[in-house]
Amino acid sequence: MTGTAQWQQQAREHLFQPFVDNAALQREGARVITRAEGACIWDSDGNRFLDAFAGLWCVNIGYGRPELAAVAARQMQELPYYNLFFKTVTPPVAELAAAIAELAPAHMNRVFFTNSGSEANDSVYRMVRLYWQLQEQPERQVIIARHNAYHGSTVAGASLGGMAPMHRQGGLPIPGIEHIQQPYWFDEGGDLSPEEFGLQAARALEERILAVGPEKVAAFIAEPIQGAGGVIIPPATYWPEIQRIVRKYNILLVVDEVICGFGRTGEWFGSDYYDLQPDLMPIAKGLSSGYAPIGGVIMADDFATVLAEKAGDFNHGFTYSGHPVSAAVALENLRILRAEGIVTRVREHAGPRFRQCLQQLADHPMVGEVRAVGLLGAVELVRNRETRERFPQVGQTGALCRDLALEEGLVLRATGDTLLFSPPLILNDQQMDEIIKTTKSALDRAW
Ligand code: PLP
Repeated sequence: MTGTAQWQQQAREHLFQPFVDNAALQREGARVITRAEGACIWDSDGNRFLDAFAGLWCVNIGYGRPELAAVAARQMQELPYYNLFFKTVTPPVAELAAAIAELAPAHMNRVFFTNSGSEANDSVYRMVRLYWQLQEQPERQVIIARHNAYHGSTVAGASLGGMAPMHRQGGLPIPGIEHIQQPYWFDEGGDLSPEEFGLQAARALEERILAVGPEKVAAFIAEPIQGAGGVIIPPATYWPEIQRIVRKYNILLVVDEVICGFGRTGEWFGSDYYDLQPDLMPIAKGLSSGYAPIGGVIMADDFATVLAEKAGDFNHGFTYSGHPVSAAVALENLRILRAEGIVTRVREHAGPRFRQCLQQLADHPMVGEVRAVGLLGAVELVRNRETRERFPQVGQTGALCRDLALEEGLVLRATGDTLLFSPPLILNDQQMDEIIKTTKSALDRAW
């Protein structure tokens, strides 16, 4: 046995895969992906797919950039590994921290490195609680998050996240985390206008702060646009009201930039898009465009100063916090994003064009809403466009459309009956048209 059959068999017998039904996968066999270029991936049988999901929201720069491979090889030969624990640092890590600080909002100039977004949010959980202990307000330990948010799969990450199916496995959330309403107008807005609903959803934060006791609340955490939850773009009234509330009660604002960071919205960060003043920004994914695992937490200067000056030893970190190879790759990724004006192109051209293109699907009898910011988009599937009534078997139509699109060579994702798009930022106009054409064909066939 060789090639596809061999890899499928090895996976069947020895692999346990994340976020899938492993018993079903055993029967079906996994598709083997062997190579990629630009916005496309190929399987081991030679089939080509346009990847409208950039891997897992991460390959911002596109696949197959030899510059990233070259810096990884060079760094592996020169210094494949050294740590940051022994009062030591390595050149790519120092340079990457400086490069991130230059891109981040002006008041945020320090970075703590992790390997992933989940580890970044686990770090956040400890950092904010430590911060208030150091500020001599040790009772401030509650973190408020949102239902249907995604902040990762580690224990604290999944607890901060508001995914009920994740909480059900393993007895989450851990104590000290409260979840409030998400700003999902399409599903939860009822008869309210988006603007009214945005205010209502934001004021759920104030209500919860008052219910918990303002003196006990440490932080509020949210994604600028919820990604995995369904590319939920909050109404325009939402974020200004949230910003007002966290200021009023002196609560730390943690803006999870793992998806929105590094150009996805057409700005460097979702916080720039919504004009936010975060205290902490967890990052990952687009930082290295997925070429090497790396994440981190960008810290506001005031916050970092308290931890640095009052904590003594910071008793937290990972063997690979600031891995030099990942850091070199991330640095080169940021250089290319800047040098080629990729983020600007999303803001000025690709993002507005994508929104327009998605509008071509808005008249379809099964589509209740289309929405997009930058190269992040969603299509809501419904049984009744007027009432926004969903299909009775939630998720079936979404999965069907996703599978039909895949048959026609397009990778997109469905969460429930929402189709999600997050293509590489280097997507060209022709590929964008292909996404729309194939999605339309899938919708027609599913209808
Ligand atoms: N935060 C957000 C907003 C995410 O979308 C994700 C992953 O999708 C994470 C955190 C977790 O990142 P990772 O999968 O790198 O641990």
